[in-house]
Amino acid sequence: APAFEVERVRRDFPILQRPVNGRPLVYLDTAASAQKPRAVLDEMTRFMSEDYANIHRGVYALSQRSTALYDAARQKVARFIHAGDAREIVFVRNATEGINLVASSYGRHFLEKGDEVLITHMEHHANIVPWQLLRQEKGIALRVAPITDEGELDMDAFERMLTDRVKFVSVVHVSNSLGTVNPVKELVRLAHARGLPVLIDGSQAALHMPVDVRDIDADFYVFSGHKVYGPTGIGVVFAKLPHLEAMPPYQGGGLMISSVTFESTEFSPPPQKFEAGTPNIVGAIGLGAAIDYVSSLGLADIHAHESALLAYGTELLREIPGLRLIGTAREKSSILAFVIDGTDPQEIGAALGRNGIAVRAGHHCTQPLMGRLGLPSTTRASIGLYTTREELDALASCLREMP
Ligand code: PMP
Repeated sequence: APAFEVERVRRDFPILQRPVNGRPLVYLDTAASAQKPRAVLDEMTRFMSEDYANIHRGVYALSQRSTALYDAARQKVARFIHAGDAREIVFVRNATEGINLVASSYGRHFLEKGDEVLITHMEHHANIVPWQLLRQEKGIALRVAPITDEGELDMDAFERMLTDRVKFVSVVHVSNSLGTVNPVKELVRLAHARGLPVLIDGSQAALHMPVDVRDIDADFYVFSGHKVYGPTGIGVVFAKLPHLEAMPPYQGGGLMISSVTFESTEFSPPPQKFEAGTPNIVGAIGLGAAIDYVSSLGLADIHAHESALLAYGTELLREIPGLRLIGTAREKSSILAFVIDGTDPQEIGAALGRNGIAVRAGHHCTQPLMGRLGLPSTTRASIGLYTTREELDALASCLREMP
């Protein structure tokens, strides 16, 4: 395969060819959502133009084609994260719904009053609030493993907190606010040594590095389609089959049953048991196309390209007077978050925006983490497969001119 050629890759993204406010777009907000390659847009349009119908039990050709393509998308997701079996892939709306599914179904069914769920101080709200809802309902307790000032998980504390009361562990793979890459394989090993299941929030990992859920030995792994260059409204829960078999349904309705009477209902086997109602067929097929696209570039090559950019951007920002990088973990991915002495992060973001540079400013849905860092907010530039050195140069020179 040819080496990663970012200029060629950029031509695959229609939005990168259009000016914003009369300037070329410098899109440094992939951590919030990734832009879409033409292959995804084309496949979604093609599918709706040529093959579209509702899925399952169709007795006519279009419905059978739709069903086959939906099933094929599930297979693509399974291969993408190296799941052993496509039945371990449940389609949901996004990572948020994925964690809610696990908290609602596994949590409600298997966790009891007094049981503890262990998370970390760097979780996204999506991996905090569902457990708090479960706490209100069931009286479980939430425990939070601390982090260091560099934004790394305190491994000794994590291990010490794996007490007999802990019954579930839920941790982020890559922090969206810090870029920290957690040693998930090691975390799973430690939890499994105590018989504890682990959910990994892979929202910021699946787009940046090869993910192998069997190598990690994750019980649950969730991510959103829109961050892996696919459409919004489609997300993934990987779960080991025995978990899915033991868990009660998340929602009830059509497609998740095998027979219904008013007295009793038999559920479909997984994954259909967890996919009530007409699913996001178009979204799943778009996600399948996105997976084909990133796989054709190769996750290892994407990772190498982005790692070089992260190192380059880190050096550039370090040289800016008064700028402090937030998140300096040894293992880091694709996030350049920072504050500048005396300047409101929101104002920095807005000033960059006026110059055609798209970044995010705020708490990044990690308010407890911001509290730990003693910051109300940061400005965050994030790298994607289409990011160039020139774009990071533009970011740095704009920051230098900041009043
Ligand atoms: N977890 C992490 C680490 C994230 O970065 C995000 C998205 N910002 C989510 C969960 C939630 O993803 P979504 O909004 O697509 O459900």
